[in-house]
Amino acid sequence: MNWITRIKNASERIKSAIRRRATKSEISASKYISCHGVPTEKKIIEENNYVCPECNAHHFISPSQRFTMMFGENNWRKIDSPLVKDPDPYKWVDTKKYKDRLKEAKKNTGQDSAILSCEAKINDIDVVASAVNFKYIGGSISMDESENVLASIKTAIEKKCPYIFVSGSGGMRMMTNMLSLMQMTRMTIGINELKKNNLPYIVVIASPSTGGLQASICSTGDICIGEKNATMAFAGRRIVEATSQTDLPENFQTVEWQMEKGQVDIVLERKDIAPTIGTLLTILLKKNSVISTEQDETTENTQSLSKIA
Ligand SMILES: [Zn+2]
Repeated sequence: MNWITRIKNASERIKSAIRRRATKSEISASKYISCHGVPTEKKIIEENNYVCPECNAHHFISPSQRFTMMFGENNWRKIDSPLVKDPDPYKWVDTKKYKDRLKEAKKNTGQDSAILSCEAKINDIDVVASAVNFKYIGGSISMDESENVLASIKTAIEKKCPYIFVSGSGGMRMMTNMLSLMQMTRMTIGINELKKNNLPYIVVIASPSTGGLQASICSTGDICIGEKNATMAFAGRRIVEATSQTDLPENFQTVEWQMEKGQVDIVLERKDIAPTIGTLLTILLKKNSVISTEQDETTENTQSLSKIA
């Protein structure tokens, strides 16, 4: 074998070793998803509220799927909110026009903004809930999103009912710059109105919850529930590592770590979030108890929830 043949054979081996990466459309069309290092059937994960039954990984769930899971199918009603006249005042262009990104996000998610809100019931208690869709430009927050939050808070105050906010956002939207940062204040003022009206405000931290949303309405809940293994942070791990020059624990910025530091009250698996909110609201609103105290386990849970409340 001469050197030309050896090089040719080596290049063939390299070519076959490098696998072509699947495109986005191929991934979404596939029946499988990569989880715990192996291809796992999407259907199995979907049927388990988008939680892997093998490794308990909590996968992405859209706001409408989450509302259906929390409140039951057709047991929640969308709250419409006004949209701003000009969502792109800076005419922002990066690798794409922001205007085109918005169109694409609306088409892909079927939502008008990154936040979907609804009126629903838990434990027969009226609630208003909002959830962020990470697939809508990384769940980033701009004017339309804060309008949605404010419309929901207004509904909660009118109906005198609690407000639930489910996060899942990369932070504020850089394409609208200062105008998006201003929304942190507007939404926080909205939450203050809820508190003035003595209405409970419950935050659910789903992954990822980072940046400006974390620094505003996600940190002002009366009760903060972390969804298992969710990331909750302001600045990212690499930035903290680089600026503090320290070794950070493996679970740094997970909700479990934040609970140790007092930022989160309780960490729950996805399936347990809605029943726990129901129990907490029953306690907070001093409703006639629908909590069974027959079983020791339930009594213990109720006692620990009363402590949180
Ligand atoms: Zn898995």
